[in-house]
Amino acid sequence: MRLSQILFSQGFGTRRLCAGLIQHGEVRVNGELVDDPEAEYEPEGLQFEVSGKTWPYYEKALILLNKPAGYECSQKPKHHPSVMSLLPAPLRERGVQPVGRLDEDTTGLLLLTDDGALIHKLTSPKHHVPKVYEARCKHPLSAEQVAQLLAGVELREPEPVARPGRPARPAPPPEFTRAEAAEAYDSHGLRLTLTEGKYHQVKRMVAAVGNRVEALHRPRFGALSLPEDLPPGGWTWVSSPALIWP
Ligand code: URA
Repeated sequence: MRLSQILFSQGFGTRRLCAGLIQHGEVRVNGELVDDPEAEYEPEGLQFEVSGKTWPYYEKALILLNKPAGYECSQKPKHHPSVMSLLPAPLRERGVQPVGRLDEDTTGLLLLTDDGALIHKLTSPKHHVPKVYEARCKHPLSAEQVAQLLAGVELREPEPVARPGRPARPAPPPEFTRAEAAEAYDSHGLRLTLTEGKYHQVKRMVAAVGNRVEALHRPRFGALSLPEDLPPGGWTWVSSPALIWP
């Protein structure tokens, strides 16, 4: 593959811009300066440098972000910056998207990729990918609350608002859900494993058993744990989807 094409595929701008970067001496391959945009390389496994930063070539980008509080997972955030703003421009250009969503105030492991089929696989409840959450609860946890979460709870929806001149819409049927695993790891700390990704699921489950989530963190997604040395806002490559879930 031509070097300009490789850069283009990795989000470094238009083909013209990529050729320009190469001609202006901004690109090194295997440590050597290359100024020919037409130079051919086998892209798989290639490491190249652009403006002094090393980039591994990946046909599909897959990254793990340590999401801080105060960021929205939406591409068009309403009240807070998007998690995308934590990523370098080439990754944003490639169109990576979060794998599922974490609430603005939830912290922890968030995967992002431009591989649509992988997003589908990892978020579909059919594939039972376990996600582990740690919730700090307002009230002390009781054994009964933990047992209820394991047995299953009904997630209540807010009452539908009647608008003037229109009949109130009937409330949607309650959603039933249960935790795959649940334990109180201290008086107010709850660790839950879920294989679905319903809207505000942990907060609504905890509310359904009469408690309240005050802080929520996700330390684990599938087989991946948040690396201890990755600071909030930091990200790292995941070299293969097989590391997340078979
Ligand atoms: N459940 C929630 O309530 N919020 C999240 O961010 C993730 C799971």
